Amino acid sequence: MNELIRKITNLKKSDYYDNANLHIHTNLSDGTLTPQQVIEKAKELNLKYISITDHNTIEAYDIVKPGIYGNTELISGVEFDCWYKTNFIHIIGYGININDKNLNKLCAKDKARKTMDLVRLFSARRSSKAIKCIKEAGGIAVLAHPACCWTFNLKNMLSELKSQGLDGLEVYYPYKSHRKIVRFHSTKAIEEIAADLNLIKTGGADSHGTNLKDR
Ligand SMILES: [Zn+2]
Ligand SMILES: [Zn+2]
Repeated sequence: MNELIRKITNLKKSDYYDNANLHIHTNLSDGTLTPQQVIEKAKELNLKYISITDHNTIEAYDIVKPGIYGNTELISGVEFDCWYKTNFIHIIGYGININDKNLNKLCAKDKARKTMDLVRLFSARRSSKAIKCIKEAGGIAVLAHPACCWTFNLKNMLSELKSQGLDGLEVYYPYKSHRKIVRFHSTKAIEEIAADLNLIKTGGADSHGTNLKDR
């Protein structure tokens, strides 16, 4: 098993409340902290695993390289906007090679596509392409905040995404505290689907502000 998958698979629900946050935005997309500040905060909070997952960009990794900082490990990441049929979804890639040519090509070329929700909605990226690109860059593909997918048959949608290569679901996510996010399914339902479809369960706080434990 790939080392990264092993590490992430071993993280439990409690880890995502205590010492792991695999969903953080910086000021290179629509977050507040700089990449260096994210590292400093994570060290202060004694977080063991973090990932910077900016919208459609991996520029943070020009500033801070994936690797170990004190007791904190920074796992490379990116959150791509894409479409699965008529659903606008976010696919996160973890453990991607930040120097991969095609992955860099898939990233946004202008600031609006990293920062503005409305502009990002006009993305032409398909889920199949984003997943393929993440995997070819050595990463794993995870559906972000799956409870927000507006569909009557979530399991069907997720099993089709799995057939496109999806590896996991972001099961542990602070839906309640999230502005603009509408939730259509329960965490329990997502957890059950992850088990049924044998998908990895990940988690993160989708931090945009200064508090990496904001829930
Ligand atoms: Zn998202
Ligand atoms: Zn996000």
